[in-house]
Amino acid sequence: MSSSRETRAPGQVKEITSLSNPIIKDIKALALKKFRDRERSFMAEGLKLVLDAMDNGWTIRTLVYAKAGRGNAAVEKAAARTVASGGLVLEVSEKVLSSITRRDNPQMVVGVFEQRYHRLEDVSSAKGDVWVALDRVRDPGNLGTIIRTVDAVGAKGVILVGDCTDPFSLETVRATMGSLFSVPLIRTDEERFLKWRESAYDGMMAGTHLKGSVDYRSVDYADKPMLLLMGNEQKGLPDSLAERCDRLVRIPQAGRADSLNLAVATGVMLYEIRRNALPMESQE
Ligand code: SAM
Repeated sequence: MSSSRETRAPGQVKEITSLSNPIIKDIKALALKKFRDRERSFMAEGLKLVLDAMDNGWTIRTLVYAKAGRGNAAVEKAAARTVASGGLVLEVSEKVLSSITRRDNPQMVVGVFEQRYHRLEDVSSAKGDVWVALDRVRDPGNLGTIIRTVDAVGAKGVILVGDCTDPFSLETVRATMGSLFSVPLIRTDEERFLKWRESAYDGMMAGTHLKGSVDYRSVDYADKPMLLLMGNEQKGLPDSLAERCDRLVRIPQAGRADSLNLAVATGVMLYEIRRNALPMESQE
């Protein structure tokens, strides 16, 4: 990475048209996990998403907008909020924006935010609280879709166990459709997860497994705080995790498919677990 950071004054607004500008190179480098980890930051695209993130208290480091956004009231508002919080605002050509997002028709606005993780101690365990734990989820689209679904059903957050795909990759962030900014994420390894589950979590841990002996619809999930444990896309849940579940449930299948897609199975489970908490609103 360049040393551009030292020369930036907070609150500065810059116009950039060159693809080789060092600040732009730094932002483009965030496409790689290595740089996201080092900078503890990530990119999110779209004006609404950027404003939602700010409303949810996420720290913006850099706001990038296309020249066409100049004079747009919402863009100006986002820029003013970025400057007020000490961030940098860049007005760039469409070509530069395309190169940052690797898209031909990029959104008008991109935000670079600080990453945020919560701790296992932050897991709430009141009756009705639902958390999802994902064992080594590898597919960015699956993770993004699960985060979005967790948000939609009003579950509390996601625990990433073991070597998971990065929730702050552009692909995952896109798939969350903004839910990333309202769903707490925790990352841990299997050992710490099991230790915490044993000593600090007093809810029910339900694992999903193709060999689960119980139909997922036969369990009373409303009785206790719930931890829903989902397995890796290729390997499913290892015995070391499956053995520690209070219940191991299966979603019945007809037809020839071996299993359901991980995100689909998580959605099916979450809607069952939250069934009574999500009454249909009256259409009248
Ligand atoms: N080959 C893997 C296996 O043997 O478990 C398939 C894994 S599946 C694609 C990914 C995860 O989705 C599973 O570990 C489980 O958590 C969940 N899942 C998918 N279909 C399921 C089903 N019919 N019943 C219960 N869980 C299921």
